[in-house]
Amino acid sequence: MPERTAAVIGAGLGGLALAIRLQSAGIATTVFEKRDKPGGRAYVYHDDGFIFDAGPTVITDPDCLRKLWTLSGRRMEDYVTLLPVAPFYQLCWEDGFRFDYADDQAAIDRQIAAKSPADVDGYRRFLAYSRDVYAEGYEKLGTVPFLHFRSMIKAAPQLARLQSWRSVYSMVAKFIKDDQLRQAFSFHTLLVGGNPFETSSIYALIHALERQGGVWFAKGGTGALVAGMVRLLEDLGGRVVMNAEVDRIETSGGQATGVTVGGVTTAFDMVASNADVVHTYDKLLGDPKGRKLAAKRHSMSLFVVYFGLRGKRPDLKHHMVLFGPRYRELIRDVFKTDGLADDFSLYLHAPSVTDDSLAPEGDSAYYVLSPVPHLGTADIDWDVAGPAYRDRILDYLEARYIPNLRRDLATVRHFTPFDFRDQLNAHHGSAFSIEPILTQSAWFRPHNRDDRLSNMYIVGAGTHPGAGIPGVVGSAEATAGLMIHG
Ligand SMILES: Cc1cc2nc3c(=O)[nH]c(=O)nc-3n(C[C@H](O)[C@H](O)[C@H](O)COP(=O)(O)OP(=O)(O)OC[C@H]3O[C@@H](n4cnc5c(N)ncnc54)[C@H](O)[C@@H]3O)c2cc1C
Repeated sequence: MPERTAAVIGAGLGGLALAIRLQSAGIATTVFEKRDKPGGRAYVYHDDGFIFDAGPTVITDPDCLRKLWTLSGRRMEDYVTLLPVAPFYQLCWEDGFRFDYADDQAAIDRQIAAKSPADVDGYRRFLAYSRDVYAEGYEKLGTVPFLHFRSMIKAAPQLARLQSWRSVYSMVAKFIKDDQLRQAFSFHTLLVGGNPFETSSIYALIHALERQGGVWFAKGGTGALVAGMVRLLEDLGGRVVMNAEVDRIETSGGQATGVTVGGVTTAFDMVASNADVVHTYDKLLGDPKGRKLAAKRHSMSLFVVYFGLRGKRPDLKHHMVLFGPRYRELIRDVFKTDGLADDFSLYLHAPSVTDDSLAPEGDSAYYVLSPVPHLGTADIDWDVAGPAYRDRILDYLEARYIPNLRRDLATVRHFTPFDFRDQLNAHHGSAFSIEPILTQSAWFRPHNRDDRLSNMYIVGAGTHPGAGIPGVVGSAEATAGLMIHG
């Protein structure tokens, strides 16, 4: 039988994971990537001797990645090294309260007891709930494609038992009384583009996911993970073509027949898109479904500042969440308000704490991100607002967390919602695609296989299960199952 062929549009982590699975199964796979480097959101910048991961840095569930190598009898360790991160995160508030969150029950209990003794027991009950959702929502359903409504009905009793109609925050608040601890155990949905006050409590599983599998960092940065995945794909015989923006997916008689890049059409037996789902349906397929997807609720965007400093800052932790003065109100502003709030809550990435290969000797690399409204919510001219917003964030960091930041600044760049829109083709410049609310999850999310074109597939943040590294790598497993076995 002649070898089957597949095109994957986009070299994001989901696209690469899918290509590896297809190639491992003997399907000749070509990845077409618009940009000059692979990774998608996990792009890498090299500036003045510093290496900056553009996006994901918190690696959870390392086993979902390891499986990509074991599929073909290879060892992940031969391609990329994962380093444990401790604590997982340090959470900081403006009143000076800090919480080091790690997989250390005694340390967690001790910190909760010091802050709010009544919540020690509540936290344990929350953890038990989180583990329950993890087993049902992640282990059983995370890699299963929801193609038919009956699959939703089958999952309904479990979703009802786990009270999935409630939000993550309301579930956390049921168990934990202290306001800051409620923030500490509910902010995680923001890491996959979800508003903790509206995202289904199923996403409380992220807490158990971290406790179970740990938090890891790829030695050399997430870019080293991407490079390892590309090398694996190429070792298996697959191809990644850079600077190759797909203009159109060709179709005929209810089938995808190939892709057109720069006026040249190449035929494939199957096509999978890792690009934004609105872009895929609207621009690449010219399908009216694109307009429908555009009208769905999309995740917020992000404003990210990458900077390098002369010297090291040993007092910082690798992952820090810097809560601002408002929580619920700020999140409402980010998801619903036309404009930028005066305050912010930030995530600070300080990878040089774990890995000194990312900065010139003796120096240190960082990024700081602020969740901001997407372009459909707030019509902000980021070319004008960006530099001022960057300066406000750096001033805030200097005043509270990194003294002499300006004096030691060696290099700086930023990435705005315009860049998500223009560089990644992301609808409204959303950082995480379609918002993970219950009515846009599982069967309600764009399906891993198109309903009309029988050999057209979707992989990545816009399909089931959703954004985040384990999410998009899980989507690759679901989609690959359909492509390999039909
Ligand atoms: C700043 C930031 C920090 C994050 N931090 C974390 C974290 O710590 N941990 C975590 O688990 N997750 C994190 N995430 C989420 C995670 O990075 C994403 O959900 C995930 O990487 C998305 O992968 P994807 O497979 O959907 O592809 P994407 O990364 O969206 O890649 C899609 C690719 O398709 C390409 N493309 C688009 N259109 C075309 C076209 N027409 N032709 C060819 N190519 C095209 C794009 O250029 C892009 O390379 C973060 C996200 C961001 C933005």
